[in-house]
Amino acid sequence: MAEAQTLENFVGGHWIRSVSAEQLDVPDPSTGTLLARVPLSNSADVEAAVQAARAAFPAWRETPVPDRARRILKLRSLLEDHLDELARTVVQENGKTLDEAQGSVRRGIEATEFAASAPTTMQGYVLEDVARGIDTELVRQPVGVVAGITPFNFPVMIPLWMAPLAMVCGNTFILKPSERVPLSAVRLARLVGDAGIPPGVFNLVHGGREAVDALLTHPGISAISFVGSAPTARHVYTTAAASGKRVQALAGAKNHMIVMPDADLEKSIPAILSSAFGQAGERCLAGSVILAVEPVGDRLVGRLAEQIRSLKVGEGWAPDTAVGPVIRTEHRERVLEWIRTGEQEGAALVARGSAPDRPDGYYVPPVLFDRVRPEMTIAQEEIFGPVLSVIRAQTLGEAIEIANRSRFGNAAAIFTQDGKAAREFRYRIEAGMLGVNIGVPAPAAYFPFAGWKGSFFGDLHATGRDAIEFYTRKKVVTTRWF
Ligand code: NAD
Repeated sequence: MAEAQTLENFVGGHWIRSVSAEQLDVPDPSTGTLLARVPLSNSADVEAAVQAARAAFPAWRETPVPDRARRILKLRSLLEDHLDELARTVVQENGKTLDEAQGSVRRGIEATEFAASAPTTMQGYVLEDVARGIDTELVRQPVGVVAGITPFNFPVMIPLWMAPLAMVCGNTFILKPSERVPLSAVRLARLVGDAGIPPGVFNLVHGGREAVDALLTHPGISAISFVGSAPTARHVYTTAAASGKRVQALAGAKNHMIVMPDADLEKSIPAILSSAFGQAGERCLAGSVILAVEPVGDRLVGRLAEQIRSLKVGEGWAPDTAVGPVIRTEHRERVLEWIRTGEQEGAALVARGSAPDRPDGYYVPPVLFDRVRPEMTIAQEEIFGPVLSVIRAQTLGEAIEIANRSRFGNAAAIFTQDGKAAREFRYRIEAGMLGVNIGVPAPAAYFPFAGWKGSFFGDLHATGRDAIEFYTRKKVVTTRWF
């Protein structure tokens, strides 16, 4: 244990020790084994990173867009070459299964590919003759230094939603990864260096609250991209906006899946199970409430219960594992407490899977609650664990109305064969990412990614054209030649 390595920050192209003496242990959630120690960087560490990012900005901004795009393409091919290694690091520090980890790295690579299309996506537009002999053109320029603050559940993918897009637009970047999964970020920083992206364009500062607060208020930073829980997102949004920055803050979720009586259960149930229990429920797109439109309820619950009891809970490495551990022992305790709350509130616990009986990893048995009522806290709060609740509804209208009462609005899904029901759902549901017969409706990187209501603070979503808008400022030039 004493030999675990203390991670370093990556600033201006150099690996340097944090000046902070505070550190946290980084355990492997599958076994509790100590992997590393992460420094909780302070404002002096952030200052060094901001100085490095600011120093690198003028030359990087003047690097032609196609040249920047080529370095991002080089990064893309390095990510591809190291996909397996990156996925293994994700399994090790996050606990998800190898399949899930590979899929998530692939999603990050997609965002990097999309970033490389900047010579097209960054283009502005021109209108000749806005008045006689006068033309107006719009150009996009980088905003300056961007900071990305990321959560524990996608250690590679979410940093890759941000850094390649911010950098290709000519910004310099500081990543503050989750202190619970810092190792993937270290690997990413090395690959960025290998891709020929100049020193100072990408910087990595480890840490938690203190580092975040220093980033949110630092006058040398122009924009903040954040993904994490709702209370932190609100804090990030209000603090950074009050200090004059543009902010996008993607927050927590409570996602509903409507199952209609005509749904093809054979095909829908695997999608529902993977949405609710994949990644141990630690996904912002996890479906955590089913709205069963009667008379489908008994049939659906019976089949789900049967399959949940046989879901294999175990180490992410094992090929037959369906549900890995949750991130920390404290989080495990919180999820178990939510399960007790559900029972106390009077929901019917109809199935409980089995978790390995070992004290070292942070395993939680998957649980299915039936007869949940919309006002119960397990139906309203984000649990972020393998717990699925079923609410019975009499009509599609009632199901949509219950879903829309949630303060969150990240994702929602409907399972049906009826186009009219699907259209009604699409039209009325108050959420940002929808699935029709899709349990995890994650938009591909060339579309925007974010929710509505309490699941998002800001205007421009992550990835897609929104990201190009977010990472650039518009300048409009009106010209007349005498
Ligand atoms: P978190 O809010 O605990 O941490 C996110 C980041 O904020 C980390 O880098 C952390 O160091 C920092 N942070 C934590 N507390 C802070 C504080 N008090 N002040 C300043 N900074 C702080 O989130 P998490 O537990 O790492 O991630 C899980 C959450 O993220 C879930 O709620 C999930 O729904 C959400 N999430 C949302 C999306 C989305 O697209 N909307 C995607 C992934 C995860």
